[in-house]
Amino acid sequence: MSQKISKKHLFFTEKLLEWNRLYNNRKMPWKFEKDPYKIWISEIILQQTRVEQGTMYYNNFIKMFPNIIKLASASDAEVYKVWEGLGYYSRCRNLIATAKFIANEMRGVFPKSYDEILSLKGIGPYTAAAISSFAFNLPYAVVDGNVMRVLSRFFGISTSIDSNEGKKTFNELANLLLDKKQPAIYNQAIMDFGATVCKPQLPLCNQCNLASNCFSYKKNKVNEYPVKEKKLIKKERWFYYFIVRQKDSVWIRRREKKDIWQNLYEFVLLEKLTKLNVNEIIKSDEIQQTIGKSFTIKNIGEYYRQQLTHQTIHALFIEIEIKKTPIPEEYFAVKTAELEKLSFPKIIKDYIQKNTLPPSIK
Ligand code: SF4
Repeated sequence: MSQKISKKHLFFTEKLLEWNRLYNNRKMPWKFEKDPYKIWISEIILQQTRVEQGTMYYNNFIKMFPNIIKLASASDAEVYKVWEGLGYYSRCRNLIATAKFIANEMRGVFPKSYDEILSLKGIGPYTAAAISSFAFNLPYAVVDGNVMRVLSRFFGISTSIDSNEGKKTFNELANLLLDKKQPAIYNQAIMDFGATVCKPQLPLCNQCNLASNCFSYKKNKVNEYPVKEKKLIKKERWFYYFIVRQKDSVWIRRREKKDIWQNLYEFVLLEKLTKLNVNEIIKSDEIQQTIGKSFTIKNIGEYYRQQLTHQTIHALFIEIEIKKTPIPEEYFAVKTAELEKLSFPKIIKDYIQKNTLPPSIK
């Protein structure tokens, strides 16, 4: 990729900014925000989350933790509770660690240079460029899947976006195109353009003011861009949850392992890579060792499904009642009325909301 600016490069930047001035009416609560803390929160929430869902979480988060000191001094449980249901909990873990780092090591002041921002835990080049440009007007172009899609279609770039070469190519091109005098406006414009006009599915080419010079549109090849190298292999996981009720309590544990949903709570789990029938589940060695053989099944629900980026989770909830079995070491009993105070993965939260667990067993 030549580093020299061509007429096509200039056309792109000029027309993108023109679109932004005349037609961009996308509204989001963090748009035009200058506080690096709030920009950081919005960008982290928006990773892997749609704007509609992210907006509610952003508003709640800022209401609970309006600045970095409030976030740093909150307990982990309070932060996880506000994050509950958003998924990708490593984001929340990193938010907490970085907030504490800035509060303790940087006197609560968010760093102002790109390199310092990039060095913070959980902040990659995209988020560092967004914070640097939006809060401090520094000339760093944002480059994510949206931006690469727009650039690959407009310039007809066939280098795959998930290869190292592709990342380098798109990063260089994005920084060449960036309007260095107004990086915040340019970055917001390309993000909004990718989200509302040059969309992944059914882009609005007929209304696009860049169409006359767009490679893929003129060649009728819009659907061939962007090019991806790897096909995502999705793993299927089957979670059989036993809601073990003993008097007015149920057994739960915290997920400690380095896996999805780390630090969130769950019921007694039997995990398999295939679908089992109820008999196989109940008679499995793992369940008999954890719960024993003497229990009464109260309810078997339907399968719940949650799609994550690299895996699909299927969960079946089986409510059982036991009398005397001692609680295994990693679990503890919590009163059903107290469950709502704890943070659960979305799939469990959905189950709890749809199936009121009785406070006591008659
Ligand atoms: S013409 Fe279509 S593919 Fe080209 S930039 Fe516009 S929306 Fe994207």
